Amino acid sequence: MVCVACHRPTGRNWLCNTCKTPYVRVWVVGERAGTLQRLIGLYKFERARSAYKTLSDLLLETLPELPNNVVVVPIPTTSGRIRERGYDHMLLIANDIAKTRGLRCNQLLARVTNTKQRQANASRRIMQAKSAFKINGEINAESIYLLVDDVVTTGATIKYAAKALRDAGAMHVWVALIARQTLD
Ligand SMILES: [Zn+2]
Repeated sequence: MVCVACHRPTGRNWLCNTCKTPYVRVWVVGERAGTLQRLIGLYKFERARSAYKTLSDLLLETLPELPNNVVVVPIPTTSGRIRERGYDHMLLIANDIAKTRGLRCNQLLARVTNTKQRQANASRRIMQAKSAFKINGEINAESIYLLVDDVVTTGATIKYAAKALRDAGAMHVWVALIARQTLD
């Protein structure tokens, strides 16, 4: 495994001991390759809405038992993408995870910009991610916020999403991801 923040090999963790991240625990289903790659492709780009259940099941198998003060927070999809696909793919997955585990799901994060990331290079993605999120609701310091996203590349999106939650008063942010994509 490799650290999702610095991309160095870690052994058995998705976060190394040296990275200072605004989130403290990370789970990833796997590297973006093979079947996982095809599933994500179907779901994100070919409007295969029903693939959400398979992806959500994979994430549920990867996650340990979670305390009941966990609030599942989807990384918000840009509204342009939702229009393209006809559904908010991460919201469907986050809702399913919360429902299955008896937890709450809350769309606490909103996008500030509408910039599409698909074609952006790594440094541009980081720049965009810095100011991408605002908080949409009440933060409870006692809650654990579990951010859910599909693919992690540079790690900038989860970093700034987690930071937005922390800046608003969240004490505990964890992260659950479907796949890690190797940097080019
Ligand atoms: Zn690291």
